[in-house]
Amino acid sequence: MIDPKPTASHFINGEYVEDKLGKAIDVIYPATGHVIAQVHAATSQIIEAALAASKKAQPAWAALTGTARGRILRRAADIMRERNRELSELETFDTGKPLQETLVADATSAADALEYFGGIAGSLTGEHVQFGDDFIYTIREPLGVCVGLGAWNYPTQIAAWKGAPALACGNSMVFKPSETTPLCALKVAEILHEAGLPAGLYNVVQGLGDVGASLVTDPRVDKVSLTGSLSTGRKVYAAAAEGMRHVTMELGGKSPLIIFDDANLEDAVSGAILANFYSSGQICSNGTRVFVQTGIKAAFLARLTARVGSAILGDPMDEATNFGPMVSEHQCKTVEGFIAKGIAEGAKLICGGERLDKPGYWLTPAIFSDVKDDMIIAREEIFGPVISILEFKEEAEVLTRANATEYGLAAGVFTQNLPRAHRMVKSLEAGTCYINTYNDAPVEAPFGGVKMSGVGRENSKAAINHYSQLKSVYVRMSELEAPY
Ligand code: NDP
Repeated sequence: MIDPKPTASHFINGEYVEDKLGKAIDVIYPATGHVIAQVHAATSQIIEAALAASKKAQPAWAALTGTARGRILRRAADIMRERNRELSELETFDTGKPLQETLVADATSAADALEYFGGIAGSLTGEHVQFGDDFIYTIREPLGVCVGLGAWNYPTQIAAWKGAPALACGNSMVFKPSETTPLCALKVAEILHEAGLPAGLYNVVQGLGDVGASLVTDPRVDKVSLTGSLSTGRKVYAAAAEGMRHVTMELGGKSPLIIFDDANLEDAVSGAILANFYSSGQICSNGTRVFVQTGIKAAFLARLTARVGSAILGDPMDEATNFGPMVSEHQCKTVEGFIAKGIAEGAKLICGGERLDKPGYWLTPAIFSDVKDDMIIAREEIFGPVISILEFKEEAEVLTRANATEYGLAAGVFTQNLPRAHRMVKSLEAGTCYINTYNDAPVEAPFGGVKMSGVGRENSKAAINHYSQLKSVYVRMSELEAPY
């Protein structure tokens, strides 16, 4: 087992840096509640050092060929895969997610992003437009210094999903992880530099929201990418707007998962489990409003209850465990509060929702049925292992109800009737839709929200447009006329 203690709190200009004058932040292992490490929030000197290093290093990086930049990212991907076990253990220490999950979903996903963006870095180009005898060409340029702000649920993945496209396009980055999970991003920085990334291009500073806020408004910063809640998104977007900075906002959701009578029952139950209980429900794209058609409801609930009842809660480092704790006491209390509200509003708690009488932040997976659209648990993002089952009769009805939310991150449909599935998807207001599956997020697919779930897209070729800009060059080939 690895020792989770980091070499130092921050990673700046190619090396670990400590400054104990910053506020101490305890790193708590969610499975036991024990303090396993400590980092210090960035002081103004640390923030200055990170921004100065980013600003200084970026032009030379942008001047390299894309192929040369990409080679380093791909090497970092290889190192990540070689060290998958130690990185997965660290992710488990940081978040409490079971090793069974982290071994396949975190460093591997980060490596995919580094490999993908490393692979396309050499083919990032502008275009040529013939305009009669004249022509126009466009130059794809990096934005400059990018700031990444991460949530606590996928600390390795978020650090790489932001860093890989930023670096591929020739930008530098200062990344601030969530104070709840400060460890993994440091490893991402360490590995990038081990792979040959020049100093100053990917820096990690620790801290709370105030550190993030001072990064967002610094005049040297050209772009801000946040993964976080809607309320933080509103603040960060507004602060970035002051300086007309580019933004990517990956925010929350309250996504619908719709199960028609003709769905394959076991697949639909699998989809509901993946959409609600993976990572103990702490996933932004989760399909937490599960609309089940009347004819299949009883069978669906019976199978869902039986299968959720077989979840293995235990030591997250034991690979047999498939359900871990909440990330923090705060998150556990928040989710318990939602469960109490669901009961008070008359939803039927079929099972779960109990705080386990042991150290750590353990909450059993909760199934609510008889949920009505206007209940709090059907309207607000819970970010925990709580599934709400709502009943519906007809397609048009469920479509209206599914879209009746301010969010629009994801949506899912389970049916054997493919024309109906595509018809539904066309009208569902969501950035990502799933047909007979849920919560896949391969790097090849654009990921992001509509409505209040965010702005911009991560992953895929679409992310390139959010980390680069186009300069148009008009070229006149003949004599130029003017009115006087
Ligand atoms: P928060 O919004 O609380 O925090 C996100 C990050 O922003 C943290 O690093 C936080 O610092 C920082 N921050 C907070 N306030 C400010 C500010 N004023 N200026 C700059 N930075 C600030 O989100 P959580 O960490 O609680 O994560 C859960 C949320 O993230 C959920 O709503 C979830 O839906 C969303 N999410 C979205 C995803 C997506 O891709 N769409 C994926 C994963 C999660 P600190 O917390 O350390 O104080």
